[in-house]
Amino acid sequence: MSLPIYLIGARGCGKTTVGQALALALGYDFCDTDHFLQHSSQQTVADIVAAEGWSGFRTRETESLKGVTAARKVIATGGGMVLAEENRLYMREHGRVIYLSADGLVLAARLEAYPQTEQRPTLTGRPIAEEMVEVLAARDALYQQAAHHIIDAMPSTDAIVNQIVSVLSLARA
Ligand code: ADP
Ligand code: MG
Repeated sequence: MSLPIYLIGARGCGKTTVGQALALALGYDFCDTDHFLQHSSQQTVADIVAAEGWSGFRTRETESLKGVTAARKVIATGGGMVLAEENRLYMREHGRVIYLSADGLVLAARLEAYPQTEQRPTLTGRPIAEEMVEVLAARDALYQQAAHHIIDAMPSTDAIVNQIVSVLSLARA
């Protein structure tokens, strides 16, 4: 099986970190829909949101998802990728979808340690911990709906990679 592997979950759950390690382990390419979008538009997420609003950003996000999809690829998706039903169905149909599930307060602590505010505009302007708990409460059901497998995002990156390789019955490169 060499279907693309989509990693979904809230900001900070480790999609980029785990995705890169997983790609290395499998000998797949890695890509990140947020990076693809920023590269193809030559704008940061914050710039796009400022210019076109979140709805403009969401439209471009769907285009990015389709643009990056290919065999033998690990794809880290933006935290809001699951908001559109079109995106959820597309990922389920074209590959295997992994939800990296983590507690909102843990995610907030990770993001506070490495803010990267330029790339991660807050959605509400409120404290990050409050926001993460609320965002997760609203999106958890969508992540679960979209996912073929739900993986605990708390262990080490290596342990998570092993878990994913195992649930997908894939061979290491
Ligand atoms: P995402 O791409 O889902 O937003 P990142 O991969 O950028 O998440 O990770 C967010 C932060 O959490 C980074 O500082 C990263 O080093 C850290 N991190 C990621 N995965 C883990 C993990 N399994 N254990 C501890 N810290 C992690
Ligand atoms: Mg990321």
